[in-house]
Parts: sequence; structure tokens; C-alpha cells
Amino acid sequence: MRYIKTRTVVLIGCLLQVCTAQAGKLSIVIDDVGYRPHEEGAVLQMPTAISVAVLPNAPHARLMATRAHSQGREVLIHMPMAPLSKQPLERDTLQPSMSSEEIQRIIRNAVNNVPYAVGMNNHMGSAMTSSLPGMQKVMQALDSYQLYFLDSMTIGNSQATRAAAGTHVKVIKRKVFLDDTANEADIRRQFNRAVDLARRTGSAIAIGHPRPATVKVLQQMLPTLPADIVLVKPSALLNEPQGNSSGGNNYVPPPVKQPKPQPKNPFTGGIKQCKVKLPKEKVNASTVINVIGESVAQSPAGTFIKRQWQRWTDTAPAKPKA
Ligand SMILES: [Zn+2]
Repeated sequence: MRYIKTRTVVLIGCLLQVCTAQAGKLSIVIDDVGYRPHEEGAVLQMPTAISVAVLPNAPHARLMATRAHSQGREVLIHMPMAPLSKQPLERDTLQPSMSSEEIQRIIRNAVNNVPYAVGMNNHMGSAMTSSLPGMQKVMQALDSYQLYFLDSMTIGNSQATRAAAGTHVKVIKRKVFLDDTANEADIRRQFNRAVDLARRTGSAIAIGHPRPATVKVLQQMLPTLPADIVLVKPSALLNEPQGNSSGGNNYVPPPVKQPKPQPKNPFTGGIKQCKVKLPKEKVNASTVINVIGESVAQSPAGTFIKRQWQRWTDTAPAKPKA
């Protein structure tokens, strides 16, 4: 009996590992932070994998960056960049016509105003990011700060990836905008699109804003995230293939995945590959679930494991000879 229980622990450890290994990685970044302390406070109540992009000249920029960082949350500089359309601009919006020195000065100020930032993404920027010379100046400035660049992809022909060639700046790309409208049903649909993309392609980055409808939808959807989707910080995706990239220095071919053995009868074969530390003492099923931890046990993954455990114990061989 003890043998069976011990193997069960191994099995559940394996399941957790398989879940993690095969999970689609979803990264969510909330832009435009620094102006709306109330909604932004709600964002800081969300899981810490939800990252924040702070406008460097916003009144609460430093406070929000510091608070987010102190929670272990990833902070980005949300750098204003010139759009093609005429609209009110933030102070120090980067323009393609600016000199390298001017762009360096603006980025240096932004780094000072947004402490703890590890990356940068663009606020607006359809004119700036589609300019190769303009983005080359940005990438050269970023190179000395070891910041990654998350391309918000506000225009299809963004030159960010090409511009990073020859620098150490890693470029990742936004795949889904959560809240082009303030309609909750639309935001929910976009959230599900991001989940689906993460599942099908391995990873996806979604960008939203600290608006009431977005906050509400995220509060509803995040606790029910499917078990095969894991929330990650954008920096966890720096070496993921970014797809349809027009060249550049950042494409990393996808790793060749070895299929994980998933034996039909978990008590025979396939288990040895899983290096899980075994508890020495005697355990029973409920202890096993407790070991996994209440949070996991109550998550969809936990429910799945409990169901599987019951199914397998129903069909398990009587008693091994060993
Ligand atoms: Zn923005």
C-alpha cells in the first residue's frame, strides 16, 4: 500500500511538471499607468505576473513603479512615441526627426522617472516605430540600459525588430489588445483570443489599460484561467519566437520538444524520468492533495489531478509484488 501511495506522489509531481512544460504562456501588460491611482490600485491587486507599463511623465509614475516592483511585479517604461494621426501628445514624445542626443536625453529621464523598469514599450508610436532610423536611435539608447523592447505593434510595419539588429536589445511583440473598446463582452472575447493564441503558439502577449471595464473583466477571467495556461512576465518570453518577424537579431528557433511519456497506467513505466523528491513518510490521498497546496488543489489543475487520481486508483493494479 505504501508503495502505491509513494508512486502516487511521484505521479502527481509528474503531472504538475507536464502541465507546466506544456502550458501556454500568457503575458499581460497594463499600459498607461501613472495617471489613475484608483483603477491602478486594482491592477496591483491582481496576480503579480500582470505587469505594468508606466508613462514616465505621469504624476504618479515613480510611486506606481515602486509599488509594483515591491510586490515583485515587472515594470516597463511606457515610452510616448509619435503617432501618425494628430492627437494630444505626452511631453517628450519621441519623434523620428529627433537627434540621437535628444532621444538619449528623453530615455535617460524616463529611466530615472520609472525606477526598476526592465523593459520599455511604446505608447502610440505608429509614426516613430515605422521609422527605421528613428527606432535605431531608440535601440542604441536602450542598449546601455539593458532594457528589452516590447513592441506594442501599433502599426503593421514596425521597424523595431530590424532596428535592434546589431544591439543587445531583445524585442518581443504584442499579439492582442484587450480593450480597443470599453465593452466588457469585447474585452472578454479578446482575453479568450489571447488565451487561445498562447495555447496554439506557445505564448502570447496581451496589452490592456487600467480602465474600469478592463479591470472588471480581468478580475473575472484571471481566477478561471484554464489549467494549461500559465501567466508569465514579459521578460519570460524574451527567447520565444516572435513570429512573422521581418528579420532582425532576435529570432530564436523554437526548441525541439521531446514528447513526454504519458503512460496509460501510471504505475508502470515512464515514471523514472520525472525527478520529484519523494516524501519519506507514509501518505494518503488527502495528504497528497494537501501537499500540493490548497491553492493548487482548488485550481483547475488541482481539480484535474484529483479527478485523474480517482480514476487511476479505481483501475490500479491490486498490490505490487515489491
Ligand atoms: Zn499607451
